[in-house]
Amino acid sequence: MSAKSEIRPKIIVAKDCGFCFGVRRAVDTIYELRKKTDKKIVVAGELIHNRDFIKHLEKDGIYCIDEGEIAELEREKDNVIVVIRTHGATKELVGKIEKMGIEYVDATCPFVKRIHKIVDENSKNCDYTIISGDKNHPEVKGIQSYSNSKTVVLSDEDECEKFVKSNLNCSQKAVLMVSQTTNNNEKYVNCQKIIKNLYTKVKIFDTICSVTGKRQNEVKKIASHADIMFIIGFVKSSNTKKLYDIASQHCKKTYLVENATEISESEIRSELEKEKESYGSGKNDFTVGITAGASTPDDIIEEVVAGIEKIIGSGEKTS
Ligand code: SF4
Repeated sequence: MSAKSEIRPKIIVAKDCGFCFGVRRAVDTIYELRKKTDKKIVVAGELIHNRDFIKHLEKDGIYCIDEGEIAELEREKDNVIVVIRTHGATKELVGKIEKMGIEYVDATCPFVKRIHKIVDENSKNCDYTIISGDKNHPEVKGIQSYSNSKTVVLSDEDECEKFVKSNLNCSQKAVLMVSQTTNNNEKYVNCQKIIKNLYTKVKIFDTICSVTGKRQNEVKKIASHADIMFIIGFVKSSNTKKLYDIASQHCKKTYLVENATEISESEIRSELEKEKESYGSGKNDFTVGITAGASTPDDIIEEVVAGIEKIIGSGEKTS
């Protein structure tokens, strides 16, 4: 046996990946509803960030529409049920659906609902509500709508620093601080420190979902040992992007793919060849790490794993 062939290819799949509790719950809710009614089911916004899955839903008479299109359901309101997606919706949108008299089912993730409640109750006595997250993300827009005070959304440490500098004479103001559920833990802790440097009356809630934290820690561990890393998910998905960012910091060859068709066979082969060339230099294995965002269905993960197994030779697989 040549030394080259003694390289041990290995695939490590994250234990915790793919549909999270909130997404699985929403998908189950919708399919339970499908069994009970012949009415058209409409989801306010994309149920999950996965184009293949959205097409699959359409075949079952479940349509994701833009929140702005809800008003157009007026004509068919007696034959339609609206589902509020995992990310939740703004207070205004829910009010509008109720006013139109359309039946609706709320599939907002309970962890997001908890933030709505925290913000609604605690912002009443605050001057500012600070949300750490992405101001364009639907979850953040929903959280913002429950605030009873002035609200500011700050995406990272730089924005927090700028905010603090422009509010130096406001240190006595009462501030409430929460985070988007899929925020990066380290970033949120840094942002809290910056805000606490100015404000003495800050009420901070830890609202990052535990699923997010666990997955971010796991991807960090896997990427630190991987020669090549694949994050399966859609570029628009916030939690997928965070996994990608963390993995990229620990593994230079990190790729974001939506499904098995996007795996670069030549890239994997070239990395494997490099490893074979350096056989005997101490590291005699070749590790492909895989994880997936919370919107990635199991069958897509399985297809990616199978595709990689085929390229590197079946290899050892752990998860
Ligand atoms: S990532 Fe967490 S908060 Fe977001 S939907 Fe999943 S379980 Fe809920």
